[in-house]
Amino acid sequence: MSTRILNLPFLSNFRSSETSAAPSKPVTELPQNPLDRFESAPNRLWRRMFTPVGRSQSQQILPQNDLASLYTRLGNLNRESGVEVKTLGSVDDLPIHLIEMRGTSSAAKKNVLICAGVHGNEPSGVSAVFELISELRTKPHLGENFNFYILPCVNPHGFKAGERRNPKDVDLNRAFAIDGGQPEAEIAVVKPFMEKMSFDLVLDLHSALPKRNGYFVLHRSDLDLLKPAMQNFAQDWPVLSNGSKPYKEEAPGICTSKPKGTLKDYLAESGCPHVVTLEAPRAMEFNQRVRGLSRLAGSIIDQFALLNGVKETS
Ligand SMILES: [Zn+2]
Repeated sequence: MSTRILNLPFLSNFRSSETSAAPSKPVTELPQNPLDRFESAPNRLWRRMFTPVGRSQSQQILPQNDLASLYTRLGNLNRESGVEVKTLGSVDDLPIHLIEMRGTSSAAKKNVLICAGVHGNEPSGVSAVFELISELRTKPHLGENFNFYILPCVNPHGFKAGERRNPKDVDLNRAFAIDGGQPEAEIAVVKPFMEKMSFDLVLDLHSALPKRNGYFVLHRSDLDLLKPAMQNFAQDWPVLSNGSKPYKEEAPGICTSKPKGTLKDYLAESGCPHVVTLEAPRAMEFNQRVRGLSRLAGSIIDQFALLNGVKETS
């Protein structure tokens, strides 16, 4: 794929800030590039908020709705081999990031997209991204055969404020309709990336109202994938039973929903064969909720690998 819009000056600036205390150039001295108008401000913000942390700290669960910790974690990830953190663009000074982990084998690889933070008051998805990356990196057969693209925080202002909606009071997960007119700023940032890619599996991480008594997924027609994945997951984690309304429960923890401009429905209608929304029970203690959500995503990816003949190498 072309990385023309992804390889931004921001990244090299950010990398240099990890190893050098050299002061950043004033914005006026930055090269004049059409992307600079939104790159300069996030650069300044990142520089101010980024502080490298030790290994033990980076292994802790990312605290909820903590933008500075999110940036720190992204900065640390960007230093690891096989991982690249880029920005797709920004919304009023806050960047929207893309984490790329490209498959290492020369064979044709499946593209997996993981999204989180579409709803700012559901931070367990954002934190679960980092737990999931740690898990994926212990499974070389996945790293060899899949390209992972991760949008860790689609609604950064909502995340910062702990609000479900964006600053214009729009629920982004109802605003992804393909013919929806002028898109919301966050959607305008992520859609060009989504449109030029072809994803084989998409997981969108959310958390549900406290009244839900377990984890569940929303899908269109993926029972073959989700039934065994949910059965494996249910051995260690609670799965929603009775109480799925307004969703239609097809199997324990597996529901369908009516399309309402969700990211899931937008990508499914764009041709992605497997698009799943994952919901964690918000009543569960945060760190536990994050671990479970990460494991549920991992369980679906494990099953997707099996269905595609990708097995653990001994
Ligand atoms: Zn949500």
